[in-house]
Amino acid sequence: KASQERDKDKADRATSDQVLDQRTRMILLQMINRGVVSEIHGAISTGKEANVYGAIALAEDLDSPPIHRAVKVYKTAILSFKDRERYITGEHRFKSGADKGNSRKMVKLWAEKEFRNLRRIHAAGIPCPEPIQLKLHVLVMDFLGDKKGYAYPRLRDAPISSSSSSDDADATWRLLYVQLLGIMRRLYQVCRLVHADLSEYNILYHKKQLYVIDVSQSVEHDHPRSLEFLRMDIKNTGDFFRRQGVDTLPDRTIFDFITRSAQDGGLPVEEPALGEAVERLYQARQDAAGEDETDAAASANRDEVDNEVFRNQFIPQTLEQVYDIEKDAQTIGQGGGDKLVYRNLLADQVVKQQQQDGEKKKSPVSGSEDDESGEGGAS
Ligand code: ADP
Ligand code: MG
Repeated sequence: KASQERDKDKADRATSDQVLDQRTRMILLQMINRGVVSEIHGAISTGKEANVYGAIALAEDLDSPPIHRAVKVYKTAILSFKDRERYITGEHRFKSGADKGNSRKMVKLWAEKEFRNLRRIHAAGIPCPEPIQLKLHVLVMDFLGDKKGYAYPRLRDAPISSSSSSDDADATWRLLYVQLLGIMRRLYQVCRLVHADLSEYNILYHKKQLYVIDVSQSVEHDHPRSLEFLRMDIKNTGDFFRRQGVDTLPDRTIFDFITRSAQDGGLPVEEPALGEAVERLYQARQDAAGEDETDAAASANRDEVDNEVFRNQFIPQTLEQVYDIEKDAQTIGQGGGDKLVYRNLLADQVVKQQQQDGEKKKSPVSGSEDDESGEGGAS
């Protein structure tokens, strides 16, 4: 049929700047047939692990302009996934590398994880793309960008210092810093997640609002290494805001701010209390510094030392780790830090999320390839 030919053309267009495999093209075609998207445009981003394409979908009300969407296509080529190992320690099949069948399943799991994480984050009211549909390694989500189809810039490229006077820019950076602390806390306290790759590259910016993206590697708060990842997120984002001239809080202060729940004497997750709470942290820091330290350079220096200590501290996460702490310290001392692997499978996490989401589904890892063909091609 002519219309099918046309649809196929549209699907093919997405392949013009990057070669997509047959499977991916079939999935895209199927999504076009179902109206999830109506056209797929060029790549917004081509990364090591995924490409993101702009797309549009027809509005339900046909008089309304079409809706922009983003389609993230995970790459099924395995090599670039190597450095993801630490997020899925214990996944031994992964270590052997290039097994094609397994790599496809792994990639499908990453996509599913991102989908579920996005759903949770979106439900918690944290600005992020709303996930719309997932099929194997293809994820369709809300497009974060303007009506013309231009994606919002990454925080790294946010047009802040150029477009306003420098006083305004300073105030904006400070506001965004506090906003991000609130987001990280909400992510931890409400979504029970640690982003685990948070930086100026995985945050989009528009009109003084931050949007969290790229959450496939985000881990549950009880993942054996979540606090380590959190500490890394705090460091990376802190480094960025310091470079923008923001007077940042010490890493440890932020860590406590994020992880301590209200019952533990922690703070609320709602605004405006949240913003006020951050202000109190600044106040507390100043009080602690005492009168002998009015000098900004001295206090920055002290924070730097504190940060260095904090970043090198071992954070026990489970009772087991606490019991083993001496042995662990010894192992690390002997250069065997890599052996300190606290088993936790990506698959376990996804199954757990499925259960939490109230779904009954067979294990995504043990499932056969059948589940991929279930919905049929577009023939
Ligand atoms: P990667 O794993 O390649 O880093 P990301 O999820 O970070 O994938 O997406 C890569 C880039 O694509 C982002 O930096 C952003 O510019 C763009 N992007 C991703 N998702 C969206 C979206 N929902 N709306 C608009 N742009 C997006
Ligand atoms: Mg990214």
